[in-house]
Amino acid sequence: MSHRLIACEHCDYLHVEKEIPTGNVAYCVRCGSLLYGAAQVRFDKPLAFAVTALVLFMIANSFPVLTFAMEGRVETNTLASGVLTFWQEGFPFLAIMVALTSVIAPLCLIVAHIYVLLPITFNLQVPGMQQVWRVLAVVRPWSMLDVFLIGLLVALTKLTEVAEVIAGPAFFAICCLIPIVLLMNVTLDPGYVWRRLAPSNLVYPTSADIVGPHNSDSLGHEFLTCHTCHMVVAGDGRDHLRCPRCGDKVHHRKPRSLSRAWALLLAAIILYVPANVFPIMTVTYLGRTQADTILSGVSALVHAGEWPIAIVVFAASILVPIIKIVLLSWVYLATQLELSGPLRERTLVYRVTELVGRWSMVDVFMVSILAALVKLGNIASIQPGFGAVAFCGVVILTMLSAMAFDPRLIWDRAGLRKSRTQEPANNRQDQVGSQGATS
Ligand SMILES: [Zn+2]
Ligand SMILES: [Zn+2]
Repeated sequence: MSHRLIACEHCDYLHVEKEIPTGNVAYCVRCGSLLYGAAQVRFDKPLAFAVTALVLFMIANSFPVLTFAMEGRVETNTLASGVLTFWQEGFPFLAIMVALTSVIAPLCLIVAHIYVLLPITFNLQVPGMQQVWRVLAVVRPWSMLDVFLIGLLVALTKLTEVAEVIAGPAFFAICCLIPIVLLMNVTLDPGYVWRRLAPSNLVYPTSADIVGPHNSDSLGHEFLTCHTCHMVVAGDGRDHLRCPRCGDKVHHRKPRSLSRAWALLLAAIILYVPANVFPIMTVTYLGRTQADTILSGVSALVHAGEWPIAIVVFAASILVPIIKIVLLSWVYLATQLELSGPLRERTLVYRVTELVGRWSMVDVFMVSILAALVKLGNIASIQPGFGAVAFCGVVILTMLSAMAFDPRLIWDRAGLRKSRTQEPANNRQDQVGSQGATS
């Protein structure tokens, strides 16, 4: 195996890639983030999961999810019903976001895996494989069928109190689809797909390409790392170039990262107020109309004795957004002020907030399901409210803010202060933090 260079995507520390046993993973020696898994030679397993997922996705979109029966009237909903209801009720932003996260992104994710893995498995060349795999990196965080399922369970809990609700074939298809998509993701290392898609004459920088003394805190501009395929590219002092492997633009750091991250986070903080003040939905039941905010929705679940669901909704809709806003502000502020301190922990906090933020979409999905199902006029009906728009905005803006932030700045900024007082290290023998952790 060559001594190919690999950079940590979270702190940019440069490592020399080494072979590791199957089932093991390598971590960054500086920040502790996952670097890569054992070399992947077979792609048939993730392909089989992707094909199964596509069949389940077709079922999930062709049959009713829930059937709601009350006072002799029956309503059914499909995955797309919530989107249509939001659109008809004058909430295009919610319609687009629910369509994107529960239908379009999951479909793109599954189809892209089949489009790329099928030719790889049979050693074929199909046009546009690199472009498709590149788009996948953008689409992946927006695929939220797992969050949709939780929203479905919350809606189911609320409805069973007042009416008869029957789960349809699509409900069971979604329940099976989520573990299958999870298996598709865990059996596949996207980095190894990039290796198979790379041009045959591509030369990877190795440890032999490191010249002269170097500050071990940062790569400087000698090497740049592609944000999309994570290939280390010889920078030759340039600040940006085209990645020779995936064709995407490569920058030393994401441009205007900190100011964009701050702007999006501040917008989210402002929207957080109307998200909690305005009702997320208006419920009409037997002639009486009541507006539900996020908080009153949780307290209604508590009064109904539905403690497990109340805890899930409280965590996803109230705790997660507040904690995310506070923690991201802390990470950005510490980076802005070039504070040293616990850099590993700060990187970990950033990674966790990036992962959990999407779970706040539970309430938005719940409203989309309830509004699509409960349409019995004065007997029982549910309309979405402006609070849901603002809340969806908070979730999207905090996600975009975390994506805009470049976590390598955490280490750069602290390193700047350090390098003013310390001599740069003369010898940079990087090692791989190969650990026996099972993936
Ligand atoms: Zn690292
Ligand atoms: Zn690339």
